[in-house]
Amino acid sequence: MNFIETRGNAGGFAPEVPFSQAILHPAASYGGLYVPKTLPEIDTAFIERYRNASYQALAKAVLDLFEIDIEESVIDEALARYKAFDNPEEPAPVVQIESDLFVNELYHGPTRAFKDMALQPFGYILSALAKKLNQNYLILAATSGDTGPATLEAFADRENIQVACLYPAGGTSDVQRLQMVTEAAKNLKVIGIEGNFDDAQSALKSLLASDTFKARLKERDIALSAANSVNFGRIIFQIIYHIRAYIALVEQGVIQTGDRIYITVPSGNFGNALGAYYAKKMGLPVEKILITSNANNVLAELINTGLYDIREKSLILTNSPAMDILKSSNVERVLFDKFGAERTKTLMTQLNEEGRYALTEEELAVLREDFDAIDTDDAYGLKIIKRYADKGYVMDPHTATCLKAYENLKEKALPMVICSTAEWTKFAPTMLMAIEESDEKKSDLEALQRISEKLGIEITPRVQALFEKPIVHKDVVAKDEIESKILEFIQSAS
Ligand SMILES: *Cc1c(COP(=O)(O)O)cnc(C)c1O
Repeated sequence: MNFIETRGNAGGFAPEVPFSQAILHPAASYGGLYVPKTLPEIDTAFIERYRNASYQALAKAVLDLFEIDIEESVIDEALARYKAFDNPEEPAPVVQIESDLFVNELYHGPTRAFKDMALQPFGYILSALAKKLNQNYLILAATSGDTGPATLEAFADRENIQVACLYPAGGTSDVQRLQMVTEAAKNLKVIGIEGNFDDAQSALKSLLASDTFKARLKERDIALSAANSVNFGRIIFQIIYHIRAYIALVEQGVIQTGDRIYITVPSGNFGNALGAYYAKKMGLPVEKILITSNANNVLAELINTGLYDIREKSLILTNSPAMDILKSSNVERVLFDKFGAERTKTLMTQLNEEGRYALTEEELAVLREDFDAIDTDDAYGLKIIKRYADKGYVMDPHTATCLKAYENLKEKALPMVICSTAEWTKFAPTMLMAIEESDEKKSDLEALQRISEKLGIEITPRVQALFEKPIVHKDVVAKDEIESKILEFIQSAS
């Protein structure tokens, strides 16, 4: 199956490209993204066939439907990455917490956030492609906390790939920072930036635009690639776990094949939600996809009013930092799917130039056939964390936003699956404030220990171990030093 561009083709690239090309060179014409030309279909027979099958078997069948140009042996190896999850047979277990509410626990991978679900297999595929082409790639990443560790872990010791990861010094949790700065693989470089996430991201952008930087990479025959959440190589793996959750409900006797469910997704860059949308479009019986936002409510506003407007908005730092976002990239793929390339290009150009776009009433109605959305605030999240911890279920602050959709948006008496995107251990200080109903923020280590004692739950061993590992990456630099630091790294490593 081939891939086409969300803003149309400008003539510089082929009008259609295979999967391998779309993931190696994810930037499409006019600043757009690659999307599959058509979507394969899954029917009730497909769902029945993968009842009681392993996650890997289902994943392989879904990838087969997309007819991607990746060798079978590479796909098998990529899917073998799920062996590093807590339960290799069931990397994403579905757990019941109310009679009609289920949690799709997507955080059982090496870095305890749902990003491992896609980045683990994707990292293997990208490296295998690079090796086959005999080309070295540098992957640049800027992170607010979860993407960095998951990207580093996905590419550690992978051939033909080097990763340079920028994080805002002081802007992540201790656990997130330690996950990055203790990564010992030689092909990884982690650099703290004096500034916030926006500074890290803009530093990355100016690097991509720097002629000296590009010339130095060229001298060493290193190409640039990206592993951010707009890469379709990640999205394809985010379709699978939604299908698996549905099948799990069939297996648990909650629904019969063909019955509809709700899926709720705590959203930032909209990759997880897009995976659910594609699954629905492929034929998974989903009533609606419910989106939750935190105080940065751009997505909830779009889906409720048709207006995407960031002119008066500035980023608010919340307890669910992975959802702190103003420009949510993957929404573009839904716009393309519903309204076509020409309209998508118009809307995205408006957003870039004027800081806003408005859907027509008809367009909004079309969007709302598949989506509904609601926003939340930190106080609500803290209350939910406490309520469920008291009942014996521990959920992180991102997951907690989903309860707002459960309480307000469920119009029909259908079961709901909410996506749990991180383990509580990544956000322990916030968790402790919720559980103790206190305003005092403790350190990560102290909060982990107190919660562990209070609730009688174990601190995940690999999180505990972070506090004893040697710090490998000590650089914290000003923005104008980043380029030279990365060039130094490339030279020393090659
Ligand atoms: C990345 C992330 C999200 C947001 O996912 P998107 O696919 O970007 O919408 C939500 N929660 C956590 C914990 C994350 O790491």
